[in-house]
Amino acid sequence: MFGPIPKAMFSSDDDAPFECCIMCQRVLKEIGEPYMIEKSFVNHKDLNLHEVKYEYAICMACAQKMHNQLSKDSRTAIEQFFSSRVDMQLRFLEFQQDEDLATDYDVWTKTSLLTEEPREELEEYVVYAMCEGDQMIYAGYPFVLSIETLEHLQSLLSKATKDILEGFMDDHFGLPPEIRRAIRDGELIFI
Ligand SMILES: [Zn+2]
Repeated sequence: MFGPIPKAMFSSDDDAPFECCIMCQRVLKEIGEPYMIEKSFVNHKDLNLHEVKYEYAICMACAQKMHNQLSKDSRTAIEQFFSSRVDMQLRFLEFQQDEDLATDYDVWTKTSLLTEEPREELEEYVVYAMCEGDQMIYAGYPFVLSIETLEHLQSLLSKATKDILEGFMDDHFGLPPEIRRAIRDGELIFI
């Protein structure tokens, strides 16, 4: 199912849809293939503010390239981690049953994917989404992972994989301190 890209998944720099792939710089609305968005948030509950920690869009070709660089053990661990905890197909079918929910971003991202904790209750979380052109694709994505889930995932990754992820952040974000921390905490994962 396709729906308009919600503002929550816009680039917070200019409050408009992401324009380019962070790696190859191709213009996303022109490539004619899906791309992914990852946005990391800190939830300041006392201020009722979800602050963006980092964000980027990446075309599928580049995301796949990154994924293929991860160690085989790490890739297997990530796949098993998800497949043993969530049935993405069932999730999709449940949302699709109701026409109003099928493309409702807030419904799809209301709770953390694996723990079912309400997003509003989470202190930190990451939203993953898939888009094509100016539309969001509702299928496996979008979903939310809590920082705790990401830390757990990170503990399953090999050193080689962590090095690759750190290299990615170094190349594209120049590694400000909060990003260094994100890597240590295991938020950045090409799944
Ligand atoms: Zn790309």
